[in-house]
Amino acid sequence: MNTTDIKVIKAYFELPKKIVFVAHKNPDGDAVGSTTALAMFYKKLGHQVQVVLPNGIPDFIAWMPGAEEVYRYDLQNIQSKKVINEADVIFLLDFNALHRVGDDMEKGLAAFEGDFIMIDHHQQPDDIAMVTYSDTSICSTCQMVYHYIEALGQVDMIDQEMATSLYTGIMTDTGSFRFPSTTSITHNIVADLIGKGVKNADVHNQVFGNNSYSRLQLLGKALTNLMVLEATKTAYITLTHEELKQYNYSKGDTEGIVNYALSLKGIVFAAIFIEDKDQAIVKMSFRSKGSFSVNQFARHHFDGGGHDNAAGGRSIETLQETVAKFIAVVPQYKKALLHSYEI
Ligand code: 5GP
Ligand code: MN
Repeated sequence: MNTTDIKVIKAYFELPKKIVFVAHKNPDGDAVGSTTALAMFYKKLGHQVQVVLPNGIPDFIAWMPGAEEVYRYDLQNIQSKKVINEADVIFLLDFNALHRVGDDMEKGLAAFEGDFIMIDHHQQPDDIAMVTYSDTSICSTCQMVYHYIEALGQVDMIDQEMATSLYTGIMTDTGSFRFPSTTSITHNIVADLIGKGVKNADVHNQVFGNNSYSRLQLLGKALTNLMVLEATKTAYITLTHEELKQYNYSKGDTEGIVNYALSLKGIVFAAIFIEDKDQAIVKMSFRSKGSFSVNQFARHHFDGGGHDNAAGGRSIETLQETVAKFIAVVPQYKKALLHSYEI
């Protein structure tokens, strides 16, 4: 964060404010962690705070500190609209464009006449905020929230609960500290957070050691459906609505499955296609190893975006048509894919 922005922020929050914290639809650990931690921070400083998320928090992170106090825009619509309308300022955390909160909530935010502050690590942030703290090199918005509090000179304010939220977001967005965006700075921050009382092994267990039987069976099905496009070092997984139903799908169950496709030896590009009958779309996740940008790929072909090595997209065509389109466009990238990653 630059010094001008820090000055602006410090002056802005000198008097008590009504603050709302928002993150993207289908919130992940980083979205929940950054919103809840920053809300706890400002609450401690005497401001009025409320986290509003577009829809539900999946079970594997529903235990996070502050998660119970979050308003769901889809279910607690009246209360959510009220706090948004009455807010002085809204923090936009872990997303770069208003449409990422979904159509309904986007309208609510677009009508908001107060100030926005954006803290995010996705590429090409929309220019809509009074202060935008954007850094695509940082592994997680939670790490950025730590830097933000650090820039304000208030790291001492981070207590065990805030630290747990931040730790969880950093852990989940770095794939348990293994993605290339994990730096020595990340590890130093994580060390500090553990020093503040985070029970790191418990967090790991809560997130990864709480699978339901049906979720593991769904994973089995997904792995059975794994297909390889050898010539382009690409692998993909499909899950139909019927399959999701058969294995009692609940939100969050498909989280991380795409990484199994990427873990296949020799594969540098992985995708998962998930049929969402309720929204009448196919939701996609893309992952890559090395220089091949799935962000660019998702933007060009599937109305999506994200990061260079992890992105998502959507399609209104059928699952079959979407996969056929994918298979048709991937060969255009053959050269880039073959050179993407070598060890
Ligand atoms: P995931 O595949 O885990 O849902 O998302 C991976 C990354 O891509 C996340 O950072 C997420 O915010 C971003 N992402 C996922 N879906 C979309 C999408 O439809 N549009 C955009 N712009 N980004 C997405
Ligand atoms: Mn994130």
